[in-house]
Amino acid sequence: MRDALATVQNDFLGKKPLDLVESDPRQRAWVEVSPQAVEANVINLKRHLAKDCELMAVVKADGYGHGAATVARAASKGGATCLGVATLQEGIELRNAGVQAPTLVLGNITDVEDLRACLYWELMPTLSSQSQVEICQQLAQESGRKFLVHLKVDTGMARLGCDLKDVPDLLDKVYKCSEIQLKGIYSHLALADGDLFGEAARFTELQRQRFDDVLKLLPKGSAGISRHLANSAGTLRDRNLHYDMVRVGLSIYGYNPLNQVGEALTLRPALSLKARVTLIRDVPAGVGISYGHKFITQRQSRLAVVGIGYADGVLRALSNRIDVLVNGEKVPQVGSITMDQLVIDITDNLNLEVGEVVTLLGQDGKNRVTPQDWSQMSGSIPWEILCGFKDRLPRLVI
Ligand SMILES: *Cc1c(COP(=O)(O)O)cnc(C)c1O
Repeated sequence: MRDALATVQNDFLGKKPLDLVESDPRQRAWVEVSPQAVEANVINLKRHLAKDCELMAVVKADGYGHGAATVARAASKGGATCLGVATLQEGIELRNAGVQAPTLVLGNITDVEDLRACLYWELMPTLSSQSQVEICQQLAQESGRKFLVHLKVDTGMARLGCDLKDVPDLLDKVYKCSEIQLKGIYSHLALADGDLFGEAARFTELQRQRFDDVLKLLPKGSAGISRHLANSAGTLRDRNLHYDMVRVGLSIYGYNPLNQVGEALTLRPALSLKARVTLIRDVPAGVGISYGHKFITQRQSRLAVVGIGYADGVLRALSNRIDVLVNGEKVPQVGSITMDQLVIDITDNLNLEVGEVVTLLGQDGKNRVTPQDWSQMSGSIPWEILCGFKDRLPRLVI
C-alpha cells in the first residue's frame, strides 16, 4: 500500500496538494478576525470609562477564539494597558509571540515551578493564600527581582479568591515581604450580566460594598495598587463598579452581555465564521434529511451541503434552528448538524453554486447572525460559543 502511494506521489505532475492547503486557509471553513474591530471596540469602551480608569483586555482561551496575540496587539493599539489570561501557558505563549504588555494570570497558581515561570516571564500571578505569598517571596529573593502580583478576594462568587476574613492577615503578609510588589487587588462579580434591577442588582451592589470594605484595609497612600472588580457586564451596567481598572473580555470582541444599557455604545463583532458549499442536490417532497431524519422536505427542494459541523464548533443543539447568510439573504439550516457537514435549504435561493461561501456568524448585506443568536437557540452563552471554535478552523486576520 505505502509503496503504491509513494509511486503515485512521485509521479504527481501538478502543484503539490499540501501547498494548496497551506496557501489558502479558505478551502473549507474558517474564522475571520478583524483586529480593527477589536481596536475600535476598546476605543469605544474607553470612552465609557473615567479618564484615568484603565482597561485590561481579557485574552484568555486564545482571545475567546480570535487568536490571543492578534487581539492583544489590537487592544493595546486601542488603549488597553494590561492583559488578562487564564493560565500560565497562555501567558508564556503571548510572551513568545512578542507581546510585552503587563499581564495578569487570572487562574490560581500554587506550584513553585509555575510561580518561578511567572517571575521569569514577567507575568503577574493572582495570589489568595499565605503559602503563595511565601513562595513568591522566596523566588523573588533567589532571583533578585521584584515579584509583581495581584491579590484576589472572594466577595460572592465562591470560586477563586481568599475569604473576606482572611484579607487583613494576607495583606499584612504581603506588606512584610519586601520583594513582593502589590500591583493590584481584585474581586469578580457573579451576577453582573443579570437583570439591571432585582436580585442581580441587589447582589452586585452587595459585592461592591464588600469590595469597598476590603479596600479600606489598604494602607493610606497605597498608590500604584490597581483596584478592579468589573467584567464586561459590570463595566456596562454601572460606573460605580469601575474603580481603577475594568477587565473586559466579551465586549472587546464586539458583544454587549446586557440586554439593555443606559447609554448607546457601539460595539462591532470582530469575528465571522464562514464555510463553502461542497455539494448541491435536488430532492422531491417527503425526503428525510441527515441523521435521524429530523427534517422532512415539504416540497420539491434544492439542498446545499456546507463543509462545517460540530467538530468545528457549530453546536449540534443548533440543528434545524439557525439561518446562514447567503448573498445577504437568510437561508435555513435543515436536519441534524453532523460532525463535519450541515445542510441548508436553498430552494428559495436557487443561484447558489458549489464552492460559494456562506456566512454562519457575522454580517452579510443587511443581515447579521451573532453568537448571542446561537446561544438563545441552543441554551448556551456567547462566551462558550466563541471559545468553542476548534483548531481545525484556520484563523484568518483580515
Ligand atoms: C473571563 C474573566 C473576565 C472577563 O469576562 P467578560 O464577561 O468576558 O468580560 C474578567 N475577570 C475575570 C476574573 C475573568 O475570569
